Amino acid sequence: MAEFKRPDGRKVTEMRETSAKVGVIKNADGSAMFQTGKTIAIAAVYGPKKMHPQHSQNPAKGTLRCNYNMMSFSVTDRIRPGPSRRSTEISKITEWALEPALDLEKYPNMVVDVHISILQADAGTRCAGINAASLALAHAGIPMRDLVTSISIGKLDKTLVVDLDKKEEDFEEGEGPTDIPISMTGGKITHLQLDGKINGAQLKEGLKMAKDACDEIYEIQKKALKEATQ
Ligand code: UDP
Repeated sequence: MAEFKRPDGRKVTEMRETSAKVGVIKNADGSAMFQTGKTIAIAAVYGPKKMHPQHSQNPAKGTLRCNYNMMSFSVTDRIRPGPSRRSTEISKITEWALEPALDLEKYPNMVVDVHISILQADAGTRCAGINAASLALAHAGIPMRDLVTSISIGKLDKTLVVDLDKKEEDFEEGEGPTDIPISMTGGKITHLQLDGKINGAQLKEGLKMAKDACDEIYEIQKKALKEATQ
């Protein structure tokens, strides 16, 4: 069988060109940029601060509150500004992906706000947002067990690939596209979504590919944090 060719010529296990920078918004308590290919996410952390409204306070521990927002200019077909069903869902998923890595017991009744802005979108924006947010939380000095890394694994017809771009997400040949965004911390999965179909053996193989990609992202994140504290 002829080898599967990705639209941009990448190897199946190859991520797009990826970079990160910490401390991009000076007025925030912590901030970071994470870019993969043409997808760019910025995260800004404010807090911990007193939670308002008061009825939302948790006396047992601090609350992580994430807000994912895709800028209207981030895609060619301008998006209507303001919250949508999609952005509300991704904000919630981002909280779930990050929370297991955080230690918020020291902050009862307080909130840590994370604002994620997608400046440019070419698929994988939720993963880029989670990678940026993890860095921004570390930069803000929020107690963390480890960084959180996130990547999307895809199945295009029958072939597994790492870090889908928009062209690949829209792949319609054969069995079509399957998109599996995954987040990890300390080798454990904190978030996994599945859009499409995949069998058990391929999912296992996909998880291994995700783990390797997350290890690469982890190194990029650590380097960005080191550069910000030098
Ligand atoms: N997208 C778009 N308009 C929208 C939502 C998404 O053009 O209103 C594009 C954008 O490039 C995004 C991609 O579709 O990155 C995939 O969106 P999805 O909901 O799968 O989330 P993502 O892969 O960005 O986490």
